[in-house]
Amino acid sequence: MAENPVALDCELCVEVLAGVAVTGGSATGPTSPFFSRLVHRTSVVDVIAGLGALAPGYLLVLPRQHVESVGELDLQDLAHAYRVARELAVIVRRRFGCRVALVEHGSSGLAGSSKACIAHAHIHLFPYPPGREGAEFVAPGSEAVEGLDALRSAAVRGQNYYYCSLAGQEGRILVNPELPSQFARQRWASMLDVADKWDWLIYPQLETVTSTMDVLRRDLTHEGSQLHETLLGYSAMASDYVRRTSVFPKNSVLKDEIARLSDLAEGSILDAGAGGGRDSLLFAKLGRDVIALDACPDFVAALPKNDRIRPMLGDIRALPLEAESVGGVWCSAVLLHLDQSDVEVAFEEFFRVLRPGGVMYASVKEGSGRDTREAYGASERLLHFFFYRAETLTEIAMDVGFEVLETWTGDEPDSSGEVTSWVKVLLRKAAE
Ligand SMILES: [Zn+2]
Ligand SMILES: [Zn+2]
Repeated sequence: MAENPVALDCELCVEVLAGVAVTGGSATGPTSPFFSRLVHRTSVVDVIAGLGALAPGYLLVLPRQHVESVGELDLQDLAHAYRVARELAVIVRRRFGCRVALVEHGSSGLAGSSKACIAHAHIHLFPYPPGREGAEFVAPGSEAVEGLDALRSAAVRGQNYYYCSLAGQEGRILVNPELPSQFARQRWASMLDVADKWDWLIYPQLETVTSTMDVLRRDLTHEGSQLHETLLGYSAMASDYVRRTSVFPKNSVLKDEIARLSDLAEGSILDAGAGGGRDSLLFAKLGRDVIALDACPDFVAALPKNDRIRPMLGDIRALPLEAESVGGVWCSAVLLHLDQSDVEVAFEEFFRVLRPGGVMYASVKEGSGRDTREAYGASERLLHFFFYRAETLTEIAMDVGFEVLETWTGDEPDSSGEVTSWVKVLLRKAAE
């Protein structure tokens, strides 16, 4: 398959994979100049703006080889495709202020029984208003599944499936679904109060398609992305930073705070934004298993080798972790590099991965507004900071569903040695 990945009778293969521009067309023929709707490309998938965009942010994630369900990919590529879909969902949610449902109707079953709208495997990203129930996308009779194994087994058995995953939840799958044509698009159209416009062939909505591309292409190339610039800054000064932060500052209360979280939390601890791993190491010494996650590859590579520390490269806005898989979250100082909408997304992610009864600690620099500084030792690189008041942080936490156990402030040197006032919160996800 990999040797000849493109099927010439497949519209999506011809359009995207073979690089032929899309027709700005409808069922009755071309209605606009040709254009490419490719938004993003990885080694495994293409992300394109979906035709029939009833709302901005509508995307399709498709494998760059002709398969009829994402479940046909090997496990690594399957996981990659869904990881990209989830990451894009985060970006869409931020940019368009919506929620996003992932839906795939895999068509590896017998021809003729397939109800997919296109034969080439694709994951839909449906943006929908925050006030609506994402559960409307779930096919009646679906069962909850963890991970993606069920997609793979259905595909291997030559079965069709309908899979739906909502933010912060495991997926639901229906194998051998008997659903009306474009079922998910019909549900989507009615959620958006345009129930008669579900058919993408008749209503391609090209203006929304192009505006979606314009916005997301800009985001994905990271133009103006301050978080991306900050990460480059940390990369440039990684060894210096790791050295500076390898021991706790004198009279630091951080050690006590780590011990406190360790006492309160059961199960493994997520050190979210682990940096050089100083805090992870203390958790490990306290006998805890730690997932030491950072978005900067140089930090992950420099993490201390320890049986209890599991290094992980990842973004706190799209955690590569199962729901309810950790008992505690330690997020020290990291959120100060995120603007408020990113902090909201990160808190949703922390809430998702925490098991019921789990606890979380977060600290940020106290204040309002923002600041930009040169990375030390790398003056061509900038670090961006956002300041938060305790009320803002607790409001975000409560919106996500956290219980606020305690809020306090304290002075402590930051990684550059400057004494700073910090806001700290201790949160809990209610036990079921
Ligand atoms: Zn194809
Ligand atoms: Zn489809």
